[in-house]
Amino acid sequence: MIRAMAEINVKQGIRSVLQKIEEACARRSSEFEDIKPRLVAVSKIKPNELIIQAYEEGQRHFGENYVKELDEKSHSPDILEKCKDIKWHFIGHLQSNKVNKVLAVPNLYLIETLDSKKLATQLNKNWPNFSPPDTKLNVFIQVNTSQEDQKNGINPSEVNSLAEYILKDCKNLNLKGLMTIGVYDYDMTLGPNPDFVCLKKCRDDCCKELGLDWRDLELSMGMSTDYEMAIELGSTNVRVGSSIFGARPQKI
Ligand SMILES: *Cc1c(COP(=O)(O)O)cnc(C)c1O
Repeated sequence: MIRAMAEINVKQGIRSVLQKIEEACARRSSEFEDIKPRLVAVSKIKPNELIIQAYEEGQRHFGENYVKELDEKSHSPDILEKCKDIKWHFIGHLQSNKVNKVLAVPNLYLIETLDSKKLATQLNKNWPNFSPPDTKLNVFIQVNTSQEDQKNGINPSEVNSLAEYILKDCKNLNLKGLMTIGVYDYDMTLGPNPDFVCLKKCRDDCCKELGLDWRDLELSMGMSTDYEMAIELGSTNVRVGSSIFGARPQKI
């Protein structure tokens, strides 16, 4: 275990993923040429020392999907001391009874998994108890683009009404984009991933319907196996874990 960890070169991992992101950007169609995708290093189940190594390499955005782990890591003295400018993304399923734990995270940057009106209402109501005055909480709406029953996220057909609700009735929230996880083992030889195509279509439809510029809403899509393709299809935010920090043990 210890030996396996020592073999992981996180700094090299960050450099290599950033390089591939840049190459994927160069292959995009010209409509996306001004967009610089953000790399979110997904550090779930990985120790603080690897987060600090990535931070030292210049990485600032980190993603976690378990509330307890995000709570512990974000409050730990070594992270607070050595990663003062860290920006945390919450990327897991958020239950009502855990909302305040996430809102209390120091340096919380973005909740990527807003998937109901109820959750939006609760985040909007509680955020002022945690935030500096007049600071909105960044959120992405999670869309279940693959429409699998076991996946979280709202159906594509419900995106516009939730987006409208956030824009009109949640003055403490900043709707910053849409997010999808999608199917895990998509065979890329079959062509563009339908989940990514679907998310982009949701974004374009939503912006049209609500009178927004399409650049006003980001697209969070792409993980270790497919972030390059996601970028080619317009992703602005890729969530990459194992390609940086090494493989994770199977979920226990
Ligand atoms: C774990 C996770 C990732 C990163 O997965 P990798 O395949 O390790 O890159 C991205 N997004 C979400 C929502 C995750 O849970």
